[in-house]
Amino acid sequence: MWNTKQFDIVVVGAGPVGSTFAKIAASKGLSVLLLERKSQIGIPVRCGEAILASDLRLFYEPRSEWISTIVDKFCFVAPNGSSATFQFKGKGYILNRKVFDYDLSKLAAEKGATVITNSYVNGLLFENDKIVGVKGICDSEPFEISSKLVIGADGVESRIGQMAGINTKLNLSDIGSGYQKTISGIDVDRNVCSFYVSNKLTPGGYIWIFPKGNDIANIGIGISGTSAIKGESAKKRLNNFLDSKYANYKVESIAVGGIPISKPIKQMVAGGLMLIGDAARTVNPLSGGGIILGMKSAVKAANVAVKVLKNNQGPSKTNLKEYQKLWMEDEGKQINRIYRIKKAADKLDDENLNSIIEKVNKVPIEKRSIARFFSACIPQKPSLLIDVAKVFIGY
Ligand SMILES: Cc1cc2nc3c(=O)[nH]c(=O)nc-3n(C[C@H](O)[C@H](O)[C@H](O)COP(=O)(O)OP(=O)(O)OC[C@H]3O[C@@H](n4cnc5c(N)ncnc54)[C@H](O)[C@@H]3O)c2cc1C
Repeated sequence: MWNTKQFDIVVVGAGPVGSTFAKIAASKGLSVLLLERKSQIGIPVRCGEAILASDLRLFYEPRSEWISTIVDKFCFVAPNGSSATFQFKGKGYILNRKVFDYDLSKLAAEKGATVITNSYVNGLLFENDKIVGVKGICDSEPFEISSKLVIGADGVESRIGQMAGINTKLNLSDIGSGYQKTISGIDVDRNVCSFYVSNKLTPGGYIWIFPKGNDIANIGIGISGTSAIKGESAKKRLNNFLDSKYANYKVESIAVGGIPISKPIKQMVAGGLMLIGDAARTVNPLSGGGIILGMKSAVKAANVAVKVLKNNQGPSKTNLKEYQKLWMEDEGKQINRIYRIKKAADKLDDENLNSIIEKVNKVPIEKRSIARFFSACIPQKPSLLIDVAKVFIGY
């Protein structure tokens, strides 16, 4: 029985990031327990499901069942309704996360991880200030599991970090308020992802239309938490948008969730514990995309965890800190740059946005670049041009 055993590592949360960590650690011969509170991994979906094909290939060979649609263009729609279309370098995928998340947990199990659903972790076990396991409830039965290391992959609401004494609190302005409907019975271009930008309609964010077929799409909105509290809610804004755009549509599902759109958190590890994915705020603050960056954090954390445990170094905070150092060197600096660009772009009013998109449209589509688009978005801050170049050149 899994609940009487001791494990090298307990991973809390079987989202794409927890499963990726579990797969790597198990494949290196460590005993891994992956605990998920939901009864079915992948359901309900709380995601727009968009990623770049080339990014996914860094971690997995994509399976056709994971992909709802393949897109090759994206467009920005200005407040006045004009739009500028860009070509993706490569392709974009709109995933089917129900299948994707479940399959990733299966891949972890195939490498030897024990995967248990219906298991809610509600506390950590401590020994001399060091974390040595988790406790929780599985199918109404309490359990306690000892482990050398605990991984908090428990998503944006992460309680594991707080339980470990890590400050994971975000400012309201650094939380995206997300609300999405998957709707069918509409006309949608299945090759194009659309982003509606407007300071009035989508303050601190945007509305997305991500096609999932010829007549079905994920249509959602992310706005800054501050705007959601002070003005109209994300839900109200999206419903108004849908009602003004489509005469008829059928709502297939609704997803509501917070999106961490912050700088990197200051502390990603404690004695016996590492945070990864949304729990560690590894999200692109401009796009709100967190699947790929989360997987990058999983790989870095897993490599450090395997090294520390296999060499019997002891999972002290000092030894685990190498993960945080690697994260900051490779991704954290980039996230800080993206954060600065976002803050400047958030200040653009609707007239600015209309004129930027008008200017982009004067450039032939094959010559348009996302770097030029964001350079135009930060005219009041030329010092950010280096950030734009570092973030988007090569995109
Ligand atoms: C509306 C919306 C749209 C988005 N669109 C996109 C997009 O298009 N592209 C993109 O890349 N990203 C998008 N994101 C972000 C993306 O969904 C997340 O970054 C990604 O899911 C993070 O993966 P994760 O594994 O870290 O966390 P999650 O996917 O949240 O997984 C965490 C898991 O932990 C489980 N869990 C939590 N607490 C416990 C506990 N105590 N015990 C046991 N299990 C627990 C949860 O049930 C969950 O299964 C979107 C987010 C939202 C809210």
